[in-house]
Amino acid sequence: MTNDTWGHVRQDLLKAVGKNNYVTWIEPLEFDALEGGVARFHVPTNFIGNWVSRNFGDQILTHLTRSGAVVDRVEFKVARSGAAHAAAAPRQSVSVATAAANGAVAAKPATARPGSELPGAPLDKRFTFDSFVVGKPNQLAHAAARRVAEGGQVSFNPLFLYGGVGLGKTHLMHAIAWQLQLDRPDLRVVYLSAEQFMYRFVQALRENGTMQFKELFRSVDVLMVDDVQFIAGKDSTQEEFFHTFNALVDQNKQIIISADRAPVEIKKLEDRIASRLQSGLVVDLHPTDYELRLGILQHKVDQYKASYPGLGIQNGVLEFLAHRISTNVRVLEGALTKLFAFGSLVGREITLELTQDCLADVLRASDRKVTIEEIQRKVSEHYNMRMSDMIGPKRHRTIARPRQMAMYLSKQLTSRSLPEIGRRFGGRDHTTVMHAVRRIEELKAVDNQIAEDLELLRRMLEA
Ligand code: ADP
Ligand code: MG
Repeated sequence: MTNDTWGHVRQDLLKAVGKNNYVTWIEPLEFDALEGGVARFHVPTNFIGNWVSRNFGDQILTHLTRSGAVVDRVEFKVARSGAAHAAAAPRQSVSVATAAANGAVAAKPATARPGSELPGAPLDKRFTFDSFVVGKPNQLAHAAARRVAEGGQVSFNPLFLYGGVGLGKTHLMHAIAWQLQLDRPDLRVVYLSAEQFMYRFVQALRENGTMQFKELFRSVDVLMVDDVQFIAGKDSTQEEFFHTFNALVDQNKQIIISADRAPVEIKKLEDRIASRLQSGLVVDLHPTDYELRLGILQHKVDQYKASYPGLGIQNGVLEFLAHRISTNVRVLEGALTKLFAFGSLVGREITLELTQDCLADVLRASDRKVTIEEIQRKVSEHYNMRMSDMIGPKRHRTIARPRQMAMYLSKQLTSRSLPEIGRRFGGRDHTTVMHAVRRIEELKAVDNQIAEDLELLRRMLEA
């Protein structure tokens, strides 16, 4: 295999994994050699190597094979500068070791120091890594947050976390801040919401204190700004944010940003800012799945049991809640709090019946039904096709594929049966719907664009 072949394979991968993933994970790979069926790549850090291997290894292998290369394994190693020792096992980066060594003084309380005038917001005690439950929908975001929380040099700056409301963005940011305060008390860590950032800026403008404002922000080591979608459209704040951002990145200071959507999807955010925000690592928190919700509930119940030792909860109640409340974690937590308060008040075991009584309103609100028509409309809009083609006979791929996606979403998001769905799609047979559902399931696993589109559509429909 030559560098040329790798060039072609990279193009295929770009299509398969989507632009964001490509820029973050595939572009940094440097083809080294193909020997004895092993394709070797150099990676900038072990973290990237592990991640690529775990998440994209199979795809890279598949595409290499497809291009004619005889490969049965791919390997990622950190390139050693100078005389590389062939046998040198990949090691954790030095910065990680330093952070671990500092763990020895972790118990030292964070005392007031010449940085206490820092403009940050207080951190929520409950939002730590210990209390964050990891599941499939949030594992990448969690891994990235953990990595940043180790302090030291990281290969991606900024870290951009995005996802719908109540999925744990703020929780992860606070967890990073807590961890850094503990392990790296030498670092000046500032967490604040974009709204607070703006407020500070406006205040500085009014009081002629813009110089101090700039100096203050540019003296931090780690800056976290939550909910940046908020400053989109606020021109002068955007401008100042951009400058602060650039100044910090230039000094190799870590920045962590969150938003409710991807940088390019934030309306009225200047292009150069969006592209700068994308230049690091962009990870999204996916909507929770049943397993994650159940995991979170179990974790919370264990905590509650410490404060209400006598309180019993019947089997099946948590499963019921995880199944019925699928909007966001905040609502789920609220439901549980209410349930425990009620249970301890009446001094009874929490049964399924009590749950249904006590949470009737919450359950009803979570019950909002998505209709097949809404799905057809949203999917048509998304792919710029006519609604009539959704139910019409055209079989061209550009129409048939979105139609299959709409069928798949109808199966996922509504309680309609396959024959009913078929009927609503222009009287198609239930086997056609079944085929569509299977096909999209297959595609979703190998084609990131489709997976992303589905996710986006689902979010819009469930919003
Ligand atoms: P966001 O900032 O994304 O809107 P938050 O971080 O404020 O969401 O999370 C909302 C609530 O849900 C918080 O109380 C948080 O602790 C909780 N939460 C979200 N995800 C998890 C998780 N994976 N494990 C435990 N708690 C979670
Ligand atoms: Mg938040």
